Amino acid sequence: MNDISNPFEEQEMRCPKLGGPVTFSYCCVEAVNLPCSRAIRCWCDRFEVESLFRRKLGDEKFRLAFEQPQPTRLENILELIERAKKINSDDSERSD
Ligand code: SF4
Repeated sequence: MNDISNPFEEQEMRCPKLGGPVTFSYCCVEAVNLPCSRAIRCWCDRFEVESLFRRKLGDEKFRLAFEQPQPTRLENILELIERAKKINSDDSERSD
């Protein structure tokens, strides 16, 4: 992101993905230096978040962040299950 100021960095909300509070600054980099793909939906009731991201990111990064096909809810759940299985498997290998 460029140096356009972000006066909303410290605002908080309950993250629907994590189930706990996050600041807007977290949402701005949640996807490894790109904003969370849900950031416009999550923050649009608070301020003009889309125009802020358009100015900060530029066209190419904006498209990368918000206009790529997103996984469905089912795909997200399946990914979480796979991660949990892997963590479980890694833990049992360590205890053997
Ligand atoms: S934008 Fe993403 S990280 Fe931020 S609250 Fe929404 S879902 Fe959570």
